Amino acid sequence: AGVLGWMVSDPAQLATSRMNAVTATALAMLISVLSWRHFLRTELLQRALAESNRQLQAQRAELERLANKDALTGLLNRREFERQAALELARARRLGSPLALFILDLDHFKAVNDTHGHAVGDQVLVGAATRMSRSIRQTDRLARWGGEEFVLLLPGAGGEGLRRLLEELRTTVETRLQIDGRPVTVSIGAAMLETDTEAGPWLARADAALYRAKHGGRNQVRVAPPASPA
Ligand code: GH3
Ligand code: MG
Ligand code: MG
Repeated sequence: AGVLGWMVSDPAQLATSRMNAVTATALAMLISVLSWRHFLRTELLQRALAESNRQLQAQRAELERLANKDALTGLLNRREFERQAALELARARRLGSPLALFILDLDHFKAVNDTHGHAVGDQVLVGAATRMSRSIRQTDRLARWGGEEFVLLLPGAGGEGLRRLLEELRTTVETRLQIDGRPVTVSIGAAMLETDTEAGPWLARADAALYRAKHGGRNQVRVAPPASPA
C-alpha cells in the first residue's frame, strides 16, 4: 500500500487500491487458514482410521486364537484338532512318515465330580492338561476332545518311542496329579495311521484300544493292532 501511494496520485483511486490490497490479503489468509484446517482434519481422520484398523486386526487375531482353544484347559479344541489332524494325515501319507493318534480318558472322573464337586473336577482337568502338555514335543498336537477326554497327534512317532511316551503320559498323570492323596489316573488307547484316508476309522481303532484299556482295569495303555488288510 505504501508503494501504491508513491505510484498513484489520485487519492480516491489510492483508497480503492488500498482496499483491494487489504481484501486480497484477507482472502488469501482466509483460504490458507481454511486449507490448513482441511489438511489437519484429513490428517487426524487418517490417523484415527489407521489406529482403529490396527485395533481391529489385533482383535481379530485374538478371536481367531480363542476360537481354536478350549476355554477351560487352553488346549486346542476339537474343531481345530480335526482341522490340524486332516492336514497331518495328508502330509504323513504324502511323505510315508508315521503318525500316531492317542485318545486319553480320565478314569472314574464322574466320581471326582460327585465326591468333590464340579469346580474341583475342572481343576483336575486343567491339571491333567498341563501335565500332559509338558510331556510332549512342540510338533505334537494335544487337544481336549470333550468332557474328560483328550486326543494327541504325534507325527513321526512309532515303535518303542511311542510305547515309552504312552507310559510316560500315563505315569505323569498318576504320579503328579492327586486328589485327597489319591492319584488321578488316565487310560490311553493308541493307533498308528495306516492306509486311512480319513480320520474316522483311525479314531475308531484308537477308541477300541481305549475301550480295552478301560476293561483291562484302567490306568493303562493299549495300542491297536494293525488293521486287517481290506
Ligand atoms: P471311565 O473310567 O469309564 O472313563 O469313567 P468316567 O466316570 O470317567 O466316565 P463317564 O463318561 O461316566 O463320566 C465322565 C464325567 O466327566 C461325567 C461328567 O460329569 C464329567 N465332565 C465332563 N465334562 C466336564 C467338565 O467340563 N468339567 C467337569 N468338572 N466335569 C466334566
Ligand atoms: Mg473317563
Ligand atoms: Mg469319557
